[in-house]
Amino acid sequence: AVSRTPFIAGNWKMNLDHLQAIAFVQKLAWSLADAKHDFADAEVAVFPPFTDIRSVQTLVSADDLPIAYGGQDLSQHDSGAYTGEVSGAFLAKLDCRYVIIGHSERRTLHGESDADVNAKVKAAHRHGLIPVLCVGETADDLEQHGASAVPVAQLRAALDGVDAGKGLVVAYEPVWAIGSGKAATPEQAQQVAAALRAVLGEIAGDEVAASTRILYGGSVKAANIASFLREPDVDGALVGGASLDLDEFSSIVRFKK
Ligand code: PEP
Repeated sequence: AVSRTPFIAGNWKMNLDHLQAIAFVQKLAWSLADAKHDFADAEVAVFPPFTDIRSVQTLVSADDLPIAYGGQDLSQHDSGAYTGEVSGAFLAKLDCRYVIIGHSERRTLHGESDADVNAKVKAAHRHGLIPVLCVGETADDLEQHGASAVPVAQLRAALDGVDAGKGLVVAYEPVWAIGSGKAATPEQAQQVAAALRAVLGEIAGDEVAASTRILYGGSVKAANIASFLREPDVDGALVGGASLDLDEFSSIVRFKK
């Protein structure tokens, strides 16, 4: 059987300035070290605002901290007249390993289409970044089409012309569960994760499907993380609100204990 290292990712959204970011990452590293966290049990990544990333890089590299980090978005373009956008080249230069793409807040508040998401996945790969590709259905979608249809369609569109073997993490985030305090059940998460993995197999082959981590996101907390990780196709979590609380996030990372 293929083993997939569980992955706990914290999406800070528009929270924590660069000074707060340094303090948070340092304390997180101390907390995990104190608890003798085994990173084979769970890899950890944080996704700070762009303006924090240089500071996080400086801390992580100076102290050789075992915490990965990445951007919450990137431009589909590499450089040029795109005011306000950030190139994947710049993120790669700051040693980002990951980049979140297609978060529901980007899709809803910034009108990102499946085509935009697809272009951003390609841009991430051009710069050696691993996309954390977010897919998920709204409450209306769930009622009209069931749980899997929209996430599966979003996955297919995002991977059009993409070699998923270049690196990919998929985050299943039901929009109705994000920030609502109303998480999906582990069974619901498993059902959609299995459907996504089947589609990955179709698109990219069984080996890529078996090695790609599929996360659940939506009101994950220390109290429910273990129930998701017990599901065979759920390989970790993308955590929003709870990733800003040091003790809570540290407990989520140490879900095995
Ligand atoms: C998110 O926005 O990616 C998320 C999962 O948020 P929350 O954990 O706050 O529901």
